[in-house]
Amino acid sequence: MSEYTAPLADMEFVLRHISGLDHVSKLNGFQHADPDTAVGVLAEAGRFFSEVIAPTNRVGDRVGSILNEDGSVTTPDGFREAYQKFVDAGWPGVHLPEMAGGGGFPYAVGIALQEMFTSANLAFSLAPLLTQGAIDALIEHGSTEQQATYLEKLATGQWTGTMCLTEPHAGSDLGTISTKAVEQEDGSYRITGQKIYITWGEHDLTENIVHLVLAKTPGAAPGTRGISMFIVPKFIPDTEGNPGERNDVRVVSIEHKMGINASPTCVLAFGDEGGAVGYLVGEEQRGMKYMFTMMNSARIGVAVEGLAIGEMAYQKAARYASERIQSKPLGGDAPAAIINHPDVRRMLLTMRANNEAMRAALYDTAARIDIENHGEDEDARARAGERVALMIPILKTWCTDLGVEMASLGVQVHGGMGYVEETGAAQFLRDARIAPIYEGTNGIQALDLVTRKVPLRDGQVVKEYLAEMSGIAADLRGIDGFARSADELDRAIESLAEASSHVGAKMASGEYADAVAGATPFTRMWGTAVGGAFLARAALATQALIEGGADEDTLRPKQSIARFYCEQILPTTNGLLGSILAPADPLFELSNEELTA
Ligand SMILES: Cc1cc2nc3c(=O)[nH]c(=O)nc-3n(C[C@H](O)[C@H](O)[C@H](O)COP(=O)(O)OP(=O)(O)OC[C@H]3O[C@@H](n4cnc5c(N)ncnc54)[C@H](O)[C@@H]3O)c2cc1C
Repeated sequence: MSEYTAPLADMEFVLRHISGLDHVSKLNGFQHADPDTAVGVLAEAGRFFSEVIAPTNRVGDRVGSILNEDGSVTTPDGFREAYQKFVDAGWPGVHLPEMAGGGGFPYAVGIALQEMFTSANLAFSLAPLLTQGAIDALIEHGSTEQQATYLEKLATGQWTGTMCLTEPHAGSDLGTISTKAVEQEDGSYRITGQKIYITWGEHDLTENIVHLVLAKTPGAAPGTRGISMFIVPKFIPDTEGNPGERNDVRVVSIEHKMGINASPTCVLAFGDEGGAVGYLVGEEQRGMKYMFTMMNSARIGVAVEGLAIGEMAYQKAARYASERIQSKPLGGDAPAAIINHPDVRRMLLTMRANNEAMRAALYDTAARIDIENHGEDEDARARAGERVALMIPILKTWCTDLGVEMASLGVQVHGGMGYVEETGAAQFLRDARIAPIYEGTNGIQALDLVTRKVPLRDGQVVKEYLAEMSGIAADLRGIDGFARSADELDRAIESLAEASSHVGAKMASGEYADAVAGATPFTRMWGTAVGGAFLARAALATQALIEGGADEDTLRPKQSIARFYCEQILPTTNGLLGSILAPADPLFELSNEELTA
């Protein structure tokens, strides 16, 4: 039996009843992607990722990708064959635009495929994820010639892409990068410098790799304003567009990590032999702006990692809990499977409810990205864009933190068998730990939420969302048995409103330390509350289906999960309020010497 079964029923439920796939598929360009076709594609994809990709996960962890003496990198057994099948089946481009050689499905559908690949093998899924970043950049900002040379090869998976941002002294603060780019007479540039931690920076899956590199030109403005973006192919395409001369970019080393071992995380040297050939994307000194245009899908892609690992952890834990016999339940007379013990049920329900909440929030945001990019109504596009902007730091932080916590709960359900490596539960925890770190650490995301997103349209974007959530709580009260859930949702919204207006006021009055001191609990509060609102919407949609004559037995679990979330998880939001409202001074009361003594 495969380690992974795609949660198709919940995916379909969310796409149809939360993300509004019916509406999205009518948007310009998506007409051929009607919901029934999309659901059929997902069923086929579920089989593929379960049967072809999931079996590579354990060997990928155990063996990892290996750097050879000649500077090449060998991926674990089975990866090359599985990748080729992925390409041959056309999976890389399903949701990419047709102009790039993709299938033209909405991102709302693409995100479900991304979840499947990531659940099946997180380390492996990073190769197409990073490639997607390069594709987005070229679609938005590449020249016609660059698009003709690179887009189709990337969209079909024939080549992969990387994002080369980080340097040893420049992580969260990319303004300090020192990689240089000097223009040549032929209009190309010579790139010199070192990048670290480059995901899938070298490998044996494809004939070429397209690096997108951030660098500074001579005399560029200081800080992030002076950054430019360059295409640096491993093999420079010849006049036919095929891989030609080897470029001056080499792997110095690959990192030994606590997880995602199959993903080669490379130190790359550009220009050891005089300068790597690079091609400017767009205009000089606009690289950071270009980065921002592709950050939405990149950050959602990393947020999906939290959900994908949470789903795997849950599936494994649920199987184990049904089989492991241990202890008599209180009042029982014989040892039972541990799934019968209240604390184990609490762990399993926490995992399942958080996963369903994350899936709803992520897919809904993906659908709003579709509306932002393809909607015909200007106002609807603008509103969708604002909501997406607000949600990005919340999703990146909440989902990736939950991924770690759900993986940890998965270990706990297994007892000692979770801590030893043979069950695989420990791998999920090790793999999940990177997601709160890369693609902007969660601390940086929390800063983004407080300093840039809460103030959007003078705080109106937040106010409108809070009002929408209150409407959902009022509707929820109308379902029998949901009064307590509705109370909890109302209380969570009140806490969120108080916290948001506090943070907004501190920002407006320039008391920045007080505004950001509680940024991390503030972001968690948002995530947890938003999760409650989404599961309340799921309960309402389920109720409407039941009242319309749909099979109650199939739908009832969705309502139970929503109730569990509202009654057991939502109340944690209120406990965060104190630490958000507290002033910053205790953080600075100790001197650095005292703090490190
Ligand atoms: C496995 C792996 C894969 C990666 N893949 C890529 C890749 O493909 N391409 C790429 O370019 N990079 C990649 N990275 C790099 C990754 O994006 C960085 O590690 C990340 O941005 C953090 O930078 P840093 O490690 O220098 O940490 P630092 O920036 O030094 O941060 C350390 C800590 O300080 C906090 N901090 C820093 N500044 C602030 C602030 N202003 N306010 C509050 N807190 C702050 C951070 O939140 C963090 O907790 C990868 C890293 C790893 C480990």
